[in-house]
Amino acid sequence: MIKAVFLDIDGTLLDFEACVEESMRLGLIERGIDYNPEMLDTFHRINNGLWHDLEQGKLTFEKLLEIRWATVFTELGIDLDGPEFEKYFRARLHESAIPMAGAYEMLEYLSGKYRLFAASNGPHEQQTERLRKADMLKYFEEVFTSGKIGAEKPGSEFFTYCFDKVTDIKPEESVMLGDSLTSDMKGGNAFGMKTVWLNPNGKEKPEWVDFEIKSLDEIKNII
Ligand SMILES: [Mg+2]
Repeated sequence: MIKAVFLDIDGTLLDFEACVEESMRLGLIERGIDYNPEMLDTFHRINNGLWHDLEQGKLTFEKLLEIRWATVFTELGIDLDGPEFEKYFRARLHESAIPMAGAYEMLEYLSGKYRLFAASNGPHEQQTERLRKADMLKYFEEVFTSGKIGAEKPGSEFFTYCFDKVTDIKPEESVMLGDSLTSDMKGGNAFGMKTVWLNPNGKEKPEWVDFEIKSLDEIKNII
């Protein structure tokens, strides 16, 4: 019997993509630059490339933050201070809390039936604050973050910490709901939780994932 649901935050409850877009758009407008959506594509291309280099060990996180916006602005031919914009961008993202479609309805529904926990890879204060801002914090018994735990999903350390705290619920009595196969689904599955994958783009579901939903309102059909 399912007793608890663990929910990922970004891309599941909060629309991180929309937060990035909003932060970039408003930041440029505030600095007198006309914004167009292709600029966002340029940011993503450069950002993805830098994260790739970081994952390969070719770049430190500090260096990434130092050069990210400077690289974007050079490519776009915009005369702005990259490191200054980075500072602004991160501060704004820190506060940005745009809900995913159907998130409130799903939380209302789930909170009537199960105990709810947030489970997120991210800084603790930032993620808690964003949930508060979105008026979602009230649904959660506890917010588990990699920032606080010191280990990230899908690592078993992350989930061990959670279930050491929630001693009266077993992993097999809980669901991990999230949009990431590599962190949410892999981690939850390896720890013996039931997994529900938010898969809005209809990618192929690996057979080891228990359930998939295209949008949050479909959760009612599963649990
Ligand atoms: Mg996510």
